[in-house]
Amino acid sequence: MDNFDLVIIGAGSSGAYLAKRMAKLGHSVLVIEKLPKTKVGTKYDIFHIEEKEFARLDIPRPVKGDPEWAFEFSKNYNADPLTLYPKCQINPIVGLHMHEYTLLLDRLAEEAGAKILYSCEFLDFLYNGNGRICGVKTKYRGKEKKIGARVVADCSGMAAAGRTKLPADYGIETGALTDEDMFYVILKYVKLLDPKDFLEGSTFWAYYKSWIAPCADPEGAIIGLGACHSFEYAERIFAEMEKTVPLPPYTLDHIEKGRTPYTRHPHSMVADNFIVSGDAGNLTKSVNGEGVTSSMVQLMIVEKTLDRALKLNRTDRDYLWEINVRYNETQGAEFAFLRAVLVGVVNAADFGEFQYAFESNIISDELLNGLAGGEISGNAVIGAAGAFIKGMLNKKIRLSTVKAAAAAVRNGIALSGLYTAFPKTPEGFGEWCKAVNEIYDRIGKIK
Ligand SMILES: Cc1cc2nc3c(=O)[nH]c(=O)nc-3n(C[C@H](O)[C@H](O)[C@H](O)COP(=O)(O)OP(=O)(O)OC[C@H]3O[C@@H](n4cnc5c(N)ncnc54)[C@H](O)[C@@H]3O)c2cc1C
Repeated sequence: MDNFDLVIIGAGSSGAYLAKRMAKLGHSVLVIEKLPKTKVGTKYDIFHIEEKEFARLDIPRPVKGDPEWAFEFSKNYNADPLTLYPKCQINPIVGLHMHEYTLLLDRLAEEAGAKILYSCEFLDFLYNGNGRICGVKTKYRGKEKKIGARVVADCSGMAAAGRTKLPADYGIETGALTDEDMFYVILKYVKLLDPKDFLEGSTFWAYYKSWIAPCADPEGAIIGLGACHSFEYAERIFAEMEKTVPLPPYTLDHIEKGRTPYTRHPHSMVADNFIVSGDAGNLTKSVNGEGVTSSMVQLMIVEKTLDRALKLNRTDRDYLWEINVRYNETQGAEFAFLRAVLVGVVNAADFGEFQYAFESNIISDELLNGLAGGEISGNAVIGAAGAFIKGMLNKKIRLSTVKAAAAAVRNGIALSGLYTAFPKTPEGFGEWCKAVNEIYDRIGKIK
């Protein structure tokens, strides 16, 4: 039986990223991928990475002419349902082809020394006499193949093939995602009929969780929408959206459909000799369900702890716990706050209130740029607060929405505080879960 320091399930962006970083540090790494190489990263075509993320995460930045590159743009509009008062945020974005970029990340992992076994499906874990993971059972070329591993990382995407196979008492949540824990995303690739409508940037309609954005064809666009429950439900919202949003005239080229997690990450992302990341750990952004770079943020934390753990031969849950602590006090707390606020506000506010928020500048260019990491002046905050109060007095905003928004912010602050103060050791974890779960029960799921 072959043995590796680290076996990673899945050669998508998360698995390839971790493989490269750990192999570069001198650890023996094997990635098992159930798809053949020709099929990896083909679940849909175009995805986006913010320009600033390439340097921060140390990932290659394709340029025009490269097979991975599709387009880039800087203007990101957020609009009211009628698109009368769009707000502009400047944030350079690069559009990439998922298949080509995944292959590039896979190649970099191999160049760093990792091995990738395509068409090799994870079936189950191997356990040692103490009941701890010590490898994986796979299906490779029609035969069962066993591979030894000191640590297994589940980067198998939404299926969470590893995490959901673990015994319920292994120290990590093993439940699969429900229809309420994910966005069903519909992407319509269209050809725009009027050259004056060719896109310079994207527009997002938060009310519908819908957008129009460039695609590889400069005369085309992707009109997308994400909704919980089912693709049928997403189609219904799409039809509703098209009744109010003045989309430019287009002809449909083709449709892609996909799903992305939209729920909290497991309370613990580590167990004995085990780590979960990527979509398998629901590490997508609370704002839009995107997960390529947010997973890499967690994997940079994983890399540091796992490197030491392997060197010290301490790959037990207690030692790997630091990954939970360091993730939760940073991105974990930030995502938890945003999710609480977004779910609360989006579920409460109606069509008219969304319209008013854009018309009255409660949602302003400056506020959006500030949320993206820029400065927000005191005047902008006072202006937004004034417009909010005026809206209440003029009955443009209902009292019930004000109460829901206030509760959402309270829940967000409480959650963020709990994540920041995540227990430094597994002791106290049970109490922490209880406190956090109570807040999540209050928040509920996004409608
Ligand atoms: C329509 C749509 C648009 C999106 N747009 C963006 C975007 O613009 N930007 C962004 O950041 N995110 C976007 N996302 C989210 C993003 O695609 C995911 O967060 C990201 O791809 C997750 O990467 P991953 O490596 O964790 O999982 P995956 O990419 O799903 O990779 C998991 C791999 O594991 C393999 N695997 C599964 N089971 C097994 C098994 N049993 N054995 C072996 N291998 C297995 C799979 O074949 C797969 O190759 C979008 C999602 C959708 C649906």
